[in-house]
Amino acid sequence: MSKRILITGAAGFLGSHLCDRFIGEGYRVVGMDNLITGDLKNIEHLFALEQFEFYHHDVSNFVHVAGELDYILHFASPASPIDYLKIPIQTLKVGSLGTHNLLGLAMNKNARLLIASTSEVYGDPLVHPQSEEYYGNVNTIGPRGVYDEAKRFQESMTMAYHRFHGLETRIVRIFNTYGPRMRLNDGRVIPAFMGQALRGEDLTVFGDGSQTRSFCFVDDQVEGIYRLLHSDYSDPVNIGNPHEITILDFAKEIVKLTGTDQKIIFKDLPQDDPLRRRPDISVAKQLLGWEPKTSREEGMKKTFEYFKSLSKEELGKREH
Ligand code: NAD
Ligand code: UDP
Repeated sequence: MSKRILITGAAGFLGSHLCDRFIGEGYRVVGMDNLITGDLKNIEHLFALEQFEFYHHDVSNFVHVAGELDYILHFASPASPIDYLKIPIQTLKVGSLGTHNLLGLAMNKNARLLIASTSEVYGDPLVHPQSEEYYGNVNTIGPRGVYDEAKRFQESMTMAYHRFHGLETRIVRIFNTYGPRMRLNDGRVIPAFMGQALRGEDLTVFGDGSQTRSFCFVDDQVEGIYRLLHSDYSDPVNIGNPHEITILDFAKEIVKLTGTDQKIIFKDLPQDDPLRRRPDISVAKQLLGWEPKTSREEGMKKTFEYFKSLSKEELGKREH
């Protein structure tokens, strides 16, 4: 009998790509999502498959799944700053109560649980690049604290179950990842810039654009997660692309890529926006033999093709 895996956040960006990957590897996949930031369109191609089931459920409430489970991937959580500023309590709950529910389910099913943590556990980092040993610099009561602290608590709770109950757990610290199926208006920088370019609007750079990020293409991220799940390592592992770029240079790259002649305009930098971010991926390289393969140019082209394929009506929708 093939292995069975539960993926929470299945209708979201990363969750839907993970569903595809595990289906492709011959797993039976149970997707779970409450659709608060996700979209069934991302997984509608899976509904006809016998190996795929979907539960519409909020994982912050008790989670029940009938039958055996070999693995659980907990990816449910708002992930974009504008989402978690809009729904702060749900964000705190899914990272804390949701994780607790899934830890309980994993105990009950004797399943291995992998949780989606984030580079945000490093906050506005004082160490660069960020290795797993860095403890972070998070403003607990700032607007981003609802996400960062939920994820930090999620890691602590997961390690406690691992140490106290001997549960098999894995923790991936995901750095900015992009690709097809990101929500066009989720406010993250890539959909924001691409949406603006496609609508003929100016590109909005926050602050002076000197802050940096390092963008990882989704296929590379999924490969890293797949390898980590099947490793025997229970400490956190950074998965991301170490090629760092300032947001201003990135905006210029997007203007070039999209072949538009949009202007770049400057807006206020959001509070606690991290100044620099780049993963140290030595652990992933050594432990998993993993490193990203997709250049930013190639990944951005694929992503732009996706956004271009959206209907005019979808492009017109704006959430902020
Ligand atoms: P996303 O918003 O596209 O997907 C999240 C999914 O979780 C959505 O489908 C949403 O409806 C669902 N969800 C949220 N709360 C839920 C709840 N209480 N119950 C059930 N479903 C719920 O975001 P994403 O980029 O795919 O992120 C997925 C995971 O990866 C998140 O945990 C996020 O914190 C983590 N992550 C992502 C990135 C990135 O760059 N994409 C970086 C770091 C961490
Ligand atoms: N950003 C920007 N313009 C936008 C959206 C985002 O300049 O329209 C900046 C944002 O301030 C941050 C960077 O781009 O410095 C990445 O933002 P995103 O929301 O994608 O992710 P995160 O801050 O969580 O890394």
